[in-house]
Amino acid sequence: MSVPDAGTSTSATDGGTATATVTVKVKATEPAKVAVPPAHYWEYPGLNLYFTAGTGGKKDDVRVDDAGAKKFKLKADTPVEYIKELQTDLIALGYLAKTSKELYGLYGGQTARAVTRFQRHAKRVYRMIGDKPDDVDAKDVFAGSSDGVCKADTAQEVRKWIEKKWVLPLGRIPLRLLNVPGVKKTKDCNPTVREDVADEWEKIVKDVADKGGTLEGQYGDCLRDVSVVSSGSSTRSLHFLARAIDLDQSKCNGRKGPYFILPLGGDPPGLPGDGKQTQPGWKILCRTEKQDGTQGTLYDTKPECWAQYGKAGVLDFDRYPLPKGYYLDLTNEIQSSGKFNRIRSRKDWKTNSKSQEWWHFQFIEGLDADTTLEDELELIGISEETLRSKGQSDADMDVIVKKECLWTGA
Ligand SMILES: [Zn+2]
Repeated sequence: MSVPDAGTSTSATDGGTATATVTVKVKATEPAKVAVPPAHYWEYPGLNLYFTAGTGGKKDDVRVDDAGAKKFKLKADTPVEYIKELQTDLIALGYLAKTSKELYGLYGGQTARAVTRFQRHAKRVYRMIGDKPDDVDAKDVFAGSSDGVCKADTAQEVRKWIEKKWVLPLGRIPLRLLNVPGVKKTKDCNPTVREDVADEWEKIVKDVADKGGTLEGQYGDCLRDVSVVSSGSSTRSLHFLARAIDLDQSKCNGRKGPYFILPLGGDPPGLPGDGKQTQPGWKILCRTEKQDGTQGTLYDTKPECWAQYGKAGVLDFDRYPLPKGYYLDLTNEIQSSGKFNRIRSRKDWKTNSKSQEWWHFQFIEGLDADTTLEDELELIGISEETLRSKGQSDADMDVIVKKECLWTGA
């Protein structure tokens, strides 16, 4: 179908009943208005595809095009095959499953979710053609909202991706092994992190070494493999996202150091602190190699340190005064760039040393306010298909990292 050349075309914006009107000269009569929708969804300025989930016994509010009307025996409220065309594009880009029950022509929850994911991704700089990066400048990202509503701006962006041959950026961020002395891959530790995380972390390790401290291994947990997650269990830890590193806990053993831990760091930034150390963040002091005053800061007030290991179940286990000497504030060294942060202890930290979490640091760069677990897992090469095969639901995958994953500890 094509729009006649003659006459003026105006677009209707009447909330979803997608029609364009064209003024056509009809012989010897007044101009008559004939509804002629453009052939393709991206050509229609008044496009407004949306979905509202029904609650309280109400039916879902879906959109239906001519293809959907035939397939699902519903009344069309969207002309031509706009929804079918959009769904075809979303499948090509990797945002809608070929097995979706809404194919073709029904704009329901699955299609709206695919649109939301696409919009969120289009707002980032990451782009890929096949498996090759083709990122855009920050000024060129999609400026619309990520609300699952497909209006003209989203339609234009979808078509831009199709024309540029961009696809969902699966595996856009490479992973690699940390190159840190003493850190090696074993059955208990996979020191694989995102390339950007490794680059930043290795810089910190070097700076700390130059100042007489140490961040050498062997490390604890680093990468946790989603593929071994048992069905439905949580992936709400930045270890799954290749963003977290657990320091060497043995360096805080037996009162010998070189690490000494103090729950004096208060609550980590962003947390509502109660000032009572309910779930404190830790200050890690590292005894410097030289103790002649050329490295570190002198601590002679003997603040109280906590033991790494205590007798399980004993309240307020082993504490002792910090030996007088020169120390480097490791927490500060790691957090000063703002790219890494610590997490808080779990509530039972006073009786369960595994809950102290002083050793856990995570990379927090590049997380938007609405970045989801799935967004992040896709960036490191784990597809939605894989996640679903591991029992992850939409709700699991749609967890907002900044809201629910930064402080839980793990
Ligand atoms: Zn950890």
